Amino acid sequence: MDGLRDVHLLSEAMAQTVSSVTVPFFDLRHSHEPLKDSLLAEFEQLIDSNAFINGPQVAAFEQAWAAYCGADRCVGVASGLDALRLALIAAGIEPGDEVIVPAYTFVATFEAVVQARGIPVPVDVSWQDYNLDVDAAAAAISPRTRFVMPVHLFGQLCDVNGLVGVAAAAGLRVVEDACQAHGASRDGVRPGEKTLAAGFSFYPAKNLGAMGDAGALVTNDLQLADRVVALREHGQRAKYRHEVEGYTARLDTIQAIVLLRKLARLNDWNNERRRIASEYKERLAGLGDLSLPPVPEGSDPVWHLYVVRTGSTTKLAEFLAGRGIGTGRHYPQPPHLSEAYRHLGYREGEFPVAEAIARESLSLPIFPGMTPQQVDAVVEAVGDFFENA
Ligand SMILES: *Cc1c(COP(=O)(O)O)cnc(C)c1O
Repeated sequence: MDGLRDVHLLSEAMAQTVSSVTVPFFDLRHSHEPLKDSLLAEFEQLIDSNAFINGPQVAAFEQAWAAYCGADRCVGVASGLDALRLALIAAGIEPGDEVIVPAYTFVATFEAVVQARGIPVPVDVSWQDYNLDVDAAAAAISPRTRFVMPVHLFGQLCDVNGLVGVAAAAGLRVVEDACQAHGASRDGVRPGEKTLAAGFSFYPAKNLGAMGDAGALVTNDLQLADRVVALREHGQRAKYRHEVEGYTARLDTIQAIVLLRKLARLNDWNNERRRIASEYKERLAGLGDLSLPPVPEGSDPVWHLYVVRTGSTTKLAEFLAGRGIGTGRHYPQPPHLSEAYRHLGYREGEFPVAEAIARESLSLPIFPGMTPQQVDAVVEAVGDFFENA
């Protein structure tokens, strides 16, 4: 999720290299260039219309995103965090309720739970998919557990079917953090299809990104959707009739305009990512101690990130930077070890798989518009690193 910051760091590194092919960690220009003229025309109309809040494009995007996800309803909100947080609040979470989360995730999963006044209960992740381990989740259920919030990390779904079985048996509801999984499926199931709701982020670097912050929730529970509609706008569904304590968490019209245009390209962009991932899989196999991302049978990931593991993360990143190739770390510190969540009382060593992946992971460039020469450059440089190591 820190793609943009990485790009800035990289452009400095790139300025110093002499290699002919440089590869930024991430680049949005290819995606945006063909859309620029039509977007500018729509922005101009928006300025003339004044409909910056709740303009018609918001409902149009909500319909389109619900249809894309195969969900009955979509509610646009201001960020992925808002989608997750408001889903828990709308579902009636009470202070002190426990929410089982994976120990290896972006910090927003924890933020959503804590800001909804729940208690995040991390469980270790699985080597099969780096996502929440369903057996570990089952073992962590206590009398205070009310929700599970799995994360579909790097664009690959967790074992949703397995988790839904465990949750149903224990009377828990599942809210999926699908902030990295736009268009992904597993065993034919998409985010939000079998659970209470799924939250998406449209942060610019996500597979479907706005030009600023934006998010959405999809659900088949119409009451839940109505509650989130009130929560996102000062607790009101009709103007100045405040039903509940609310927030300012709307999806801006200008972002809905961008998202509508970009949604038409999402499948093509995801397919480009799939093609790059399969080239990496074929051409990076068997190098030194390099582990490529696991993909369980039945899983169809959308490769938000391409994360490899090695004992030489820092050295490999430095070597690639020297060749003009950007990389990222997702995520070097699991949330339970971060300063913000020290008060939860977890210590190093409690979630060994999560901590090992966090230590060893390095994200290689993958983005729509990445050229075959750029893929070659990454493959050759990674090969050179391990052959000379
Ligand atoms: C991006 C992301 C979020 C939060 O999204 P924002 O739009 O930045 O609030 C939550 N969870 C995961 C796993 C993410 O990658």
